[in-house]
Amino acid sequence: MERLVVIGNGMAGARTVEEILDRGGRERFAITMFGEEPYGNYNRILLSNVLSGVEDEADIFLNSLPWYEENGITLRAGVRVERIDRFARVVRAADGTVTPYDKLIIATGSRPYVPPIDGMHHPRRGYHQGVFTFRTIDDTRAMIRYARDHERAVVIGGGLLGLEAARGLQQHGVQVTLLHSAATLMNAQLDAQAGAILRRNVESLGITVEVSARTVAVVGRDRVEGVRLADGRTIPSDMVVVAAGIRANVEVAALSGLPVERAILVDDHMRVLDETDIYAVGECVQHRGQTYGLVAPLWEQARVLADQITGRDRTAAYHGSRTATKLKVAGVDVAAMGITTPERDDDEFVVYSEPRRGVYKSVIVRDDRLIGATLLGDVSKVGFLMQAFDRGLPLPEERVRLLFDLGGPPAEESAAELDDGAQVCNCNGVSKGDLVTTVHSGVKTVGGVMDATRAGKGCGSCKSLVAQIVEWAAGGTVEEDPTATWYVPGVPMDKPALMAAIRAQGLKSVSAVFDALAGGREDAKSKMGLVSLLRMMWGEEYQDERGARFINDRVHANIQRDGTFSVVPQMKGGVTTPDQLRRIADVADKYQVPMVKVTGGQRIDLLGIRKEDLPRVWADLDMPSGYAYAKSMRTVKTCVGSEFCRFGVGDSTTLGIAIESRFQGLESPAKMKLAVTGCPRNCAEAYVKDLGVVAIDGGRWEIYVGGAAGAHVRKGDLLATVDSPDEVITLTGRFLQYYRENANWLERTYAFVPRIGIETIRSLIVDDSDGLAAGLDERMAAAVAAYTDPWKEGAAPATAGQFRTALPLLPLPVVPVRERDPA
Ligand SMILES: Cc1cc2nc3c(=O)[nH]c(=O)nc-3n(C[C@H](O)[C@H](O)[C@H](O)COP(=O)(O)OP(=O)(O)OC[C@H]3O[C@@H](n4cnc5c(N)ncnc54)[C@H](O)[C@@H]3O)c2cc1C
Ligand code: SF4
Repeated sequence: MERLVVIGNGMAGARTVEEILDRGGRERFAITMFGEEPYGNYNRILLSNVLSGVEDEADIFLNSLPWYEENGITLRAGVRVERIDRFARVVRAADGTVTPYDKLIIATGSRPYVPPIDGMHHPRRGYHQGVFTFRTIDDTRAMIRYARDHERAVVIGGGLLGLEAARGLQQHGVQVTLLHSAATLMNAQLDAQAGAILRRNVESLGITVEVSARTVAVVGRDRVEGVRLADGRTIPSDMVVVAAGIRANVEVAALSGLPVERAILVDDHMRVLDETDIYAVGECVQHRGQTYGLVAPLWEQARVLADQITGRDRTAAYHGSRTATKLKVAGVDVAAMGITTPERDDDEFVVYSEPRRGVYKSVIVRDDRLIGATLLGDVSKVGFLMQAFDRGLPLPEERVRLLFDLGGPPAEESAAELDDGAQVCNCNGVSKGDLVTTVHSGVKTVGGVMDATRAGKGCGSCKSLVAQIVEWAAGGTVEEDPTATWYVPGVPMDKPALMAAIRAQGLKSVSAVFDALAGGREDAKSKMGLVSLLRMMWGEEYQDERGARFINDRVHANIQRDGTFSVVPQMKGGVTTPDQLRRIADVADKYQVPMVKVTGGQRIDLLGIRKEDLPRVWADLDMPSGYAYAKSMRTVKTCVGSEFCRFGVGDSTTLGIAIESRFQGLESPAKMKLAVTGCPRNCAEAYVKDLGVVAIDGGRWEIYVGGAAGAHVRKGDLLATVDSPDEVITLTGRFLQYYRENANWLERTYAFVPRIGIETIRSLIVDDSDGLAAGLDERMAAAVAAYTDPWKEGAAPATAGQFRTALPLLPLPVVPVRERDPA
């Protein structure tokens, strides 16, 4: 087997390896990948979403650590390669290791460019504290941390990255000023008029924008106090983010004697000039004088490199990319290609501008060919324009048709016009051809194609084009996603039909359901939903099968980012005792728990417990499980209520504890968070819970359902106003049981309640219009009676390996340690 070494585990390096594996590379190469960052491979584009809090860090990873293992790849994450010895054919890494190669790929990407600005660097200490760049997960984390504690930020650079940084920082409550040295925002892509509209859009978000503003100094000795501009003004600020461009990261290549100009020189085969076995790909390459700073070109490069290195297609060649940009910048759709303003007298320049709506469209036509286009705010014509730009398609006589669909060619036609190689999803490098192949392989739903190809799963700006192409490729008749109504993806039945079949055939285990209702085909994604349903339906009679459970449910704890677990003991209604606190403290000491944290649900979280320690931790705590991991009833938050609060009109604590005691651990289609609050001041946030109870004057209680305050925010709907805590408990049980029996798998109450309608729910549950109440109450009582504490399993593991550690733990920071301000 040949040894293939890849330096750089970023978007280009990992994509190239994926392409190589697709071409049978696993049999051919023993692959080692070096990545300076201590992580797997992630979608760098989505760091903007992480900064703005739209996406979680964990969601932007493209290939998980098991992916490397499964494909036989040795990943050296967190190890920087320092030199390539071309003569000995080895790479030398900073950790002292020497790795031989037969073939080598360099994919070291770029580094942020930091212009020479006075005071940017602290003497002998690198960047001034409070100065940041925006390129990696670590940069993003550092910015988030700093932004939380500071009030004002200056972002230097009004290009794509600067705008994203400004928007992201703003989400952390920081006042942001964006400084751009050119007169137009995104001046590389936009003309002056479009830039002005973008500026208005950005300013309307509350970001201050200064154009033609050249920063000459960072002010402040020990801490950043502001920046000084060339015109003498000082902009006060606590932090500075530099997003002034990038430079190819060629250090290793240059040091090792490879040919480098602005970047590493490669030929049309992506081979480094004059080298036989060294290739380069991505932002670190210079091809025919061009370097690229967007992902679309690197997907093309990766394919050519893979064809060449595996010998799959020796004729494959990269001819350079015409970069057309399609992005969502600070929430605004932007597409740009070619030149931005007319250059010759006879260039046709067609412009439509609607500043109030933030829409701008322009095209530049020369000799009947499209040579430039800018779209802002409405990018519906981007598919056709990109094609016309790339391939010189004939243009409509009425040029206005380039900007609008005037009852003109229907969507399918523009989808049809697209070239197979046309990049549709820039974020994930998916071409029209990939989508069409997927449709032809039998996937005929838009969602299915998106799942299979990852198209549309980045910034999302291509979703409508993806849908058009799928529709066109499926012959105009996209299938409704049949699985949309299925309770779980592996069993073709909606919930009522599935429940009826399970009951009729007496199916009490997950494997029995697969055997009887899915032709014996097991489906991993369906298991959790089935377990929940079967436990709900059969209670004690349910036949447990360990393999059917998700890791959290297998070990009754919540798996964390680094492979350790968090343990949250029950603390009913948020009430605890000195004895419990003492035990928690002792356990934290004994197992050296890295973080002890009070949760939003009024409990104490012990974070960073190793899997093998879980049974001993539970035994030492000797407290029941708090269910912080499961799709079940989790917690009932309470305020102090009438017992202690001078505003309280009801004893919320006692009622909260009663509700939590009765419904503890109940499985449900999704997690359920409840609250009881002692008056409408709502200190326990009951209006935004799955079920919230509010005490009102006259000893009465209001019950709200379907509230949420997570990624989705919704005030619950008033279900009923009742006269006593007993009635609250009865209606709570009835609602929870109705939800358990009728909601789709993973459907939170905030989606379920509006879907069914609060009037319907009220008439069924409160008024008992269909005579369901007695049955619901009865089944709930049976479920309550079947309760056992899962943590008792610690003493007698259900399977031998239940608490054995399986994967090596990742050396990730377990506790986000706050930097102390030295000032
Ligand atoms: C916040 C942000 C938003 C962006 N948004 C967009 C967008 O909307 N659209 C778009 O098209 N592009 C966007 N980009 C650009 C896009 O991310 C890059 O074009 C792409 O990541 C380049 O891929 P690459 O593999 O060449 O480099 P990278 O992804 O930077 O990967 C290079 C990797 O090599 C590693 N490395 C470097 N030197 C060494 C060494 N000596 N040893 C070991 N490892 C090494 C680095 O740690 C790095 O992980 C964005 C970039 C950022 C930072
Ligand atoms: S919700 Fe009302 S009773 Fe409860 S703590 Fe707040 S003010 Fe007091």
